[in-house]
Amino acid sequence: MKILVVNAGSSSLKYQLLDMENESVLAKGICERIGTSGKISHKVADGRKFEAEIPMPTHTEAFQCLVDALTKGELKVIDSMSEISAVGHRIVQGGAIFSKSTLVDDKVIEQISDLAELAPLHNAAHVLGIKACIAALGKDVPEVVVFDTSFHQTMPARAYMYPIPYEYYEKYKVRRYGFHGTSHRYVSDRCAELMGKPKKDLKIVTCHLGNGCSISAIKDGVCIDTSMGFTPLDGLMMGTRTGTMDPSVLTFIAEKENMSPKEMDDMCNKKSGLLGVSGLSNDSRDVNNAAREGNERCRLAVDMQQYEVAKYVGSYIAAMNGIDALVFTGGIGENDPGMREYVSGQLGFLGVTIDLEKNKLRGEEVELSTPESKVKVWVIPTNEELVIARDTLALISK
Ligand code: AMP
Repeated sequence: MKILVVNAGSSSLKYQLLDMENESVLAKGICERIGTSGKISHKVADGRKFEAEIPMPTHTEAFQCLVDALTKGELKVIDSMSEISAVGHRIVQGGAIFSKSTLVDDKVIEQISDLAELAPLHNAAHVLGIKACIAALGKDVPEVVVFDTSFHQTMPARAYMYPIPYEYYEKYKVRRYGFHGTSHRYVSDRCAELMGKPKKDLKIVTCHLGNGCSISAIKDGVCIDTSMGFTPLDGLMMGTRTGTMDPSVLTFIAEKENMSPKEMDDMCNKKSGLLGVSGLSNDSRDVNNAAREGNERCRLAVDMQQYEVAKYVGSYIAAMNGIDALVFTGGIGENDPGMREYVSGQLGFLGVTIDLEKNKLRGEEVELSTPESKVKVWVIPTNEELVIARDTLALISK
């Protein structure tokens, strides 16, 4: 059975076609610059790939390019789209409505559109993706939506409420939702599997550290807290995002610089984090390299991010009253030995020890902790597309 996974953004559409007999990826790619020009990059399982510039005024044309890439030419992997049993869509914001993945119908599309108020850029684009998909494949092919927020819906109110006047929660649903849920779910499931224990018996802290960063506390098999909040701006310092800070900084700078709410939003989301502090780049490789060569602002940016990750991990250990396993994932978590060594080192007082040779490995699933370590430390490459495909399969098999 073949399942197509789609992740539609405002100007891009990423896709993967999986064969669920063995959960292998048959082809994957991305349509970019939708609305301005249009480019597709397509790759098949044996590594062969092509790129082409094709006009994509809307998501409908982008979806047609994806259909052509999968079904035509030398790199086709299926004869026709009728071989695809179902489509799974990644959706950023499911609000408090969607605590699990669900089959798409007209009401679900309307609900996702309504939630765009909470995630304007993302949810509106997801709806375009779903509609383009239905237009190309027809209504007979089941579509499933998988939400970044669902995994965090188990948080208790004390973790998801903000200490602002209660009326804003009632009027506008202002609360912590959390994001990267599909990734936190995948790596915590895999961690329990690797440890050979039921997830409900483990206290796990999962660190998804990439351009966007979030950390989750998982106890009794469910998420009890996570660092991203009302939007993905909350929590840790990220590639270009501030993460948590004193809200007065915003009103102070806005008044001094005469900046509008939109400009402040841009500053916090796009010009801050590693990029803002280093003045060089949002890419942790660039910032780390420059720090090693003596760039002081890059050193500061790296130090700040590592310190914050350790601080959050510590707070979640207190929130859970213990920890059995610490998991690193995401581009930085999977590849940056410096981050992992620092965070594990700060947990030395708990009896955490890691193997520094294994810590040099990049992008591999590996247990970093030594046999005598009191807490297991893992690197687990995330696989959000696989979770989306599995959820899709489970829902259509019901
Ligand atoms: P993601 O958003 O998960 O794709 O992660 C992107 C981040 O991972 C960027 O900041 C990259 O610089 C970082 N990253 C990827 N590879 C490495 C590496 N080998 N060493 C350090 N950081 C890396």
